[in-house]
Amino acid sequence: MGFWWYEVRLAAGVASLALVAGWLVGRPSVGLLVGALVYAGWQGMRLLRLLRWLQGGRLAEPPELPGVWGELAYLAHSQYLRARRRQRRLGERLKRYEATAAALPDAAVVLGRDHGIQWLNEAACRLLHLDARRDVGQRVDNLLRHPDFVAYLHGGDYAEPLVLSGLVEEDRVLQLHIVPYGQDQRLLVARDITRMHRLEAMRRDFVANVSHELRTPLAVMAGYLETLLEGSLDAGQRQALEAMQQQTTRMKHLVEDLLTISRLETGELEELDAPVDVPALLRSMLEQARRLSGEKQHELSLQADESLWLLGHERYLYSAFFNLVVNAVQYTPAGGRIELRWQRCDEGACFEVCDTGIGIPAQAIPRLTERFYRVDPGRSRAAGGTGLGLSIVKHVLIHHEGELQVDSTPGAGSTFRCVFPARRVCGPNDPQ
Ligand code: ADP
Repeated sequence: MGFWWYEVRLAAGVASLALVAGWLVGRPSVGLLVGALVYAGWQGMRLLRLLRWLQGGRLAEPPELPGVWGELAYLAHSQYLRARRRQRRLGERLKRYEATAAALPDAAVVLGRDHGIQWLNEAACRLLHLDARRDVGQRVDNLLRHPDFVAYLHGGDYAEPLVLSGLVEEDRVLQLHIVPYGQDQRLLVARDITRMHRLEAMRRDFVANVSHELRTPLAVMAGYLETLLEGSLDAGQRQALEAMQQQTTRMKHLVEDLLTISRLETGELEELDAPVDVPALLRSMLEQARRLSGEKQHELSLQADESLWLLGHERYLYSAFFNLVVNAVQYTPAGGRIELRWQRCDEGACFEVCDTGIGIPAQAIPRLTERFYRVDPGRSRAAGGTGLGLSIVKHVLIHHEGELQVDSTPGAGSTFRCVFPARRVCGPNDPQ
């Protein structure tokens, strides 16, 4: 508060001097007026110096000003120093972020309004063949013109990444993901997954080839076993051959399931949009389920909406639905109830298998469609399960844009639901 005292003392000093001088010449009021003018002029000069300093922009060097003007100059100077320190800190942080993003192995491209490129890192130059100097400011869809990428960019649904080969190089497979942030800004991230893609293809081919190669020896073994079992055998020999036959059948199922999965994984399925008479398919399935249930004498029932058909692949749909029915028969104790339902639902159409079987613990439900996952491995093997059934169901549903839903209570029963979108629903008389 020293500057206030300085100003008060200065004003009082000037006023007293002016009053004394005015009194000496016999005109104290004129003396006071002259004193006030001198004081105002003096303050005006200091204000002018302060203004010049502020306008000059050399805020790092404050002027030597006494009183309240000096205080103002000091405040402006310290605000300036603080802002400069903040700016330097932000600048350093920005540089660090830029250096980190630039060093990322994945391509990163910042897109503004209208998909214009605002910034890109080195990996973007390498993976997407963009040029930091030439392409900043250009629309990304003018530079990356693959129709799938353009549709993804404009579609606005960025929940899932887009996997694309041939965006810039024919044999490079990229995983592209757009992350919206801020106002109208998007980050395009691209990762090279060519190697992973190749390894995955190799794995699929290997499983498919091995399964295929195993088919012939298994068929030969099954044939000989059948012939041998027709001959005269003692009880011990028969038991051994029957056990061998049982295991061969299990292996055959395993090989068939593996082949089905690899076909579903690799192949573009032919005839994915043929109208399928699901009610008829379920009627024949019910007969098979009755035979399968055999001595267990399940109470089996079917409710099917006769007007509800589905666009899809009949053989694969049969395989998926039958897997659910076989599981219900396998995991429901004798005398239990199994209901098959085919009906309309909010999403479109829904196939439901509801049983009063052993049920599944809640923590196991998310893992059911993993290959070879079994809640109780011993029970599944004893029942002749391959551990691949629900994985097949999942893949068939993916091909039909469907979803598998599972509700279950251990000890009370389970409901497996295949839900299909309305665009796949058709009727028996719909024109094709
Ligand atoms: P599996 O050939 O072993 O039946 P799946 O993939 O068809 O293989 O099923 C995976 C596991 O899910 C089964 O091992 C079983 O533990 C459980 N499961 C499937 N369906 C049912 C059901 N209806 N009731 C109880 N558990 C079931």
